[in-house]
Amino acid sequence: MLAIQAAVTIDLAYSERIPYTFKGRLQSRTSEACGSLSTSLPDQLFWPNSTQYSTETTDIWSETCLLSPSCVFEPNTAEDLSQGLKLIKMSGSKLSVRSGGHMPVPGAQSLDDGVMISMSRFNTQALNSDKTIASIGPGQTWIDVYTWLAQSDLVVNGGRYPSVGVGGELIGGGIGYFSGSRGWGCNDIVGYEVVLADGGIVYATGENTTFSDLFWALKGGHNNFGIVTRFDMRTIPIGSIYGGFLAWNGGAKEQFFDALEDYMAPGGGVDDPHSAINAFASIQPAKGSSSYSLENVILYSLPDPSPVALRGFTSINSSYLTTSEVSLHTTWTDIPNLLGQFSNRNGRSLFWSISYKGDPQAISIHNHTVIDGALEELTHVAGLTIYATWQPISKSWLEISQRSGDAIALDPETDGTFIAGMITSLWDNEEDDEAVYAFVEKAAQKIQSETTKVGLYNPFIYLNDAAKTQKPFDALGGGKSLPRLKEIQAKYDPDGFIKNYLQHGFSLE
Ligand SMILES: Cc1cc2nc3c(=O)[nH]c(=O)nc-3n(C[C@H](O)[C@H](O)[C@H](O)COP(=O)(O)OP(=O)(O)OC[C@H]3O[C@@H](n4cnc5c(N)ncnc54)[C@H](O)[C@@H]3O)c2cc1C
Repeated sequence: MLAIQAAVTIDLAYSERIPYTFKGRLQSRTSEACGSLSTSLPDQLFWPNSTQYSTETTDIWSETCLLSPSCVFEPNTAEDLSQGLKLIKMSGSKLSVRSGGHMPVPGAQSLDDGVMISMSRFNTQALNSDKTIASIGPGQTWIDVYTWLAQSDLVVNGGRYPSVGVGGELIGGGIGYFSGSRGWGCNDIVGYEVVLADGGIVYATGENTTFSDLFWALKGGHNNFGIVTRFDMRTIPIGSIYGGFLAWNGGAKEQFFDALEDYMAPGGGVDDPHSAINAFASIQPAKGSSSYSLENVILYSLPDPSPVALRGFTSINSSYLTTSEVSLHTTWTDIPNLLGQFSNRNGRSLFWSISYKGDPQAISIHNHTVIDGALEELTHVAGLTIYATWQPISKSWLEISQRSGDAIALDPETDGTFIAGMITSLWDNEEDDEAVYAFVEKAAQKIQSETTKVGLYNPFIYLNDAAKTQKPFDALGGGKSLPRLKEIQAKYDPDGFIKNYLQHGFSLE
């Protein structure tokens, strides 16, 4: 592990520029890239039909994202990645980077006719001497990290679901169980080790150093600047905590929405920094309205067996409960582990992000548009479950983000407490992709126009929950972040290699 105290470390051996030339057609460029990687780093390059290739290209959360790279490069170290990146750049091949493979955006982490770089060997787990900073490799899942840190009664503000990858989640911002008191996941990062487009390995911190602009950009700017090989992140002491997973049948509807509305009201649970919820309503249109279900992942980060902040949900009439896995846990990892059921990778998936003030009217618009609409229009889609999802973002969360300084840069005063909502769809067959996409796009437009009419719409699009056609950078910083992100990209990627050749979930264009 590089010493955390060192503000900046640059490996000069890798910082020289390589002339960038175009060499013929795409396939020959890719063959050249795979060939030179295979010659220079033979134990790190995998061809189709190898087990490793198969795992890396299929262990991806949404089937909509399964593509066929020409080869898979699994670097062992940042130095190997740097060397490999130079070879790929020299060849003029396209490339993608994958960590946990969870972004349900086709082309975000895989590609046809190009090199997939897998970060799976970047699994650093190290604590500094006083255990306040954890160095974390991006190739791990969050449950790997939580299980390791729990041995020291520590946690970090990572993703809520166990199988989500560290790499993608943190560069998109990060909504965690501890965000009420810590802000976005990226707000706890004190340093990023990054391999840049020219192969240079740099350590970006916020301490007014050479790379503090890069440090800012990586907090929410996605993979538009380089490949992160290590996150250094503040730890949080953790003891017993309360929480788990609750599900109710449709009979609980009125009480559930009362609880959600109370939670979002000023002074409600959302304003308690220890409280976190991830609430959703779902329907399986082929099974009809009786399949309507309400669910909530709840967590209270203190050893309180009956937190007031969550009581609206925990006191819903128990006759409606279909699942009740909530208790005080001495081992906090019980909670993310409960959510293993959401890690099923055998299906197709679409996320769509939509935000608005946490007002009863907007919540109702979201619920009815998704649920009623899907019941009318999507009964023919095999295996479809569609969700309206509510993720509360508090004003104090945005204040923490503002103090930390990040590219997301929402304004606590004007954006205030709001809901980062989602429409989430899971279904079986490719033949239904278009129908699901068309419905979700139309539903999102309707939610946007109806919440706009009543002054409740918020243009924030959470990148980690967005669909390919959404533009998550436009609203960041009230529109001011995007020009700065572009300048920083041009500074660190003057040849446009990362910009034009690396696959993005979301580019800055
Ligand atoms: C079941 C499920 C639960 C989720 N829960 C949460 C949650 O609780 N909180 C939350 O905020 N989000 C959540 N998400 C969204 C998730 O954060 C994003 O999909 C995220 O991009 C996943 O990261 P990954 O590494 O698994 O994905 P990947 O698909 O591997 O990567 C996503 C993107 O990040 C890029 N990338 C990955 N690693 C690196 C790296 N080291 N350097 C540069 N670029 C990199 C990739 O190129 C790709 O474009 C969830 C998603 C799913 C499917």
